Amino acid sequence: MSNKILVTRSSMPELEEYVEEIRDIWDSHWLTNMGEKHKNLQQQLKDYMKVENVELLTNGHMALELTMQAMNLQGEVITSPFTFASTTHAIVRNGLIPVFCDVNPIDFTIDVTKLESLITDKTCAIVPVHVYGNICNVEEIDRIAYKYGLKVIYDAAHTFGEEYKGCGIGTFGDASCFSFHATKVFNTIEGGAVCYKDELLGQRLYNLKNFGIRGPEDVESVGANAKMNEFQAAMGLCNLRHVEREIKKRKKVVERYRERLEGIKGIQLNHIQDNVKSNYAYFPVIFDEKLFGHSRNEVFDKLAENNIMARKYFYPLTNTFDCYHGQYDVSKTPIALYLSKRVLTLPLYADLSIEDVDRISDIIVGMME
Ligand SMILES: *Cc1c(COP(=O)(O)O)cnc(C)c1O
Repeated sequence: MSNKILVTRSSMPELEEYVEEIRDIWDSHWLTNMGEKHKNLQQQLKDYMKVENVELLTNGHMALELTMQAMNLQGEVITSPFTFASTTHAIVRNGLIPVFCDVNPIDFTIDVTKLESLITDKTCAIVPVHVYGNICNVEEIDRIAYKYGLKVIYDAAHTFGEEYKGCGIGTFGDASCFSFHATKVFNTIEGGAVCYKDELLGQRLYNLKNFGIRGPEDVESVGANAKMNEFQAAMGLCNLRHVEREIKKRKKVVERYRERLEGIKGIQLNHIQDNVKSNYAYFPVIFDEKLFGHSRNEVFDKLAENNIMARKYFYPLTNTFDCYHGQYDVSKTPIALYLSKRVLTLPLYADLSIEDVDRISDIIVGMME
């Protein structure tokens, strides 16, 4: 039996490189609290992400949760249910009411043609998700938000390093929240960041991540603790040196999958967006049972039999989670529901070999015969 292939594999530097990077931490005994590694990573990310402001946090979820808190939001937030648990939980944990907007069937991002009909006098913000590395219709979302005076907070967890028309993806909306979790394109083991425009928002966010402490005897506000520590930042400094090469390798994997799976009846591949510098974060495939002859679940099981672990991502929709039972009407997001029952993300990481991509593709193609 061949080795197990998981849906992703964390990018890591050579051990020696990390050891070299953390040597300063040993010498200084400065382990956390915005030390040299933190400062250095913050600066390097500003450059790499082409953004003005970056705040580093302990993970992507706290980036979302604290950004919403820093904006003092109240009322309803329009968002997508076709996402990871974190997006909806961050809204609910802020005492806000999520209002679910359907997604479009082409790139799976929030359907901007349905946004305006969901806006009420209680709406305070839109939290769209750039899903799988596909970016939302940022221009239309900007226009609508401006027209109704709404805040826009992007869940940008999937879009590290991406650009739209040459602009860093973190420059859109009022804030964009990134995840540097181990499974993402760029990781700091656990970690996250917020890119933002308004300086005051930045100060509030900093206070929330550091107990509201501004100086040794100065506690300005009631804050939590969500600091990125020096070991996380050191991992980021190492991984950032290799991220371009990793993305190039991901691109090769994606191109091979496309060659093998394009044009097969009943298989819909991810849409390639214009004007986007992609990071090739995920490879979602939609299986239409009627045309393909097998359901998504059958493909999942067949791959699993062969020691290949794909992922039903995103399934279930967040508006159908047990913890939200009876609260939301999933029939209002029919396209998201359709997709969540049919989508499978195939294994994708920089070091996935072309032979393995072929083996995975062969199994899928073989199911048709
Ligand atoms: C990973 C992820 C998050 C949460 O990030 P963590 O760093 O794991 O806390 C939020 N939203 C989406 C869409 C994600 O994929």
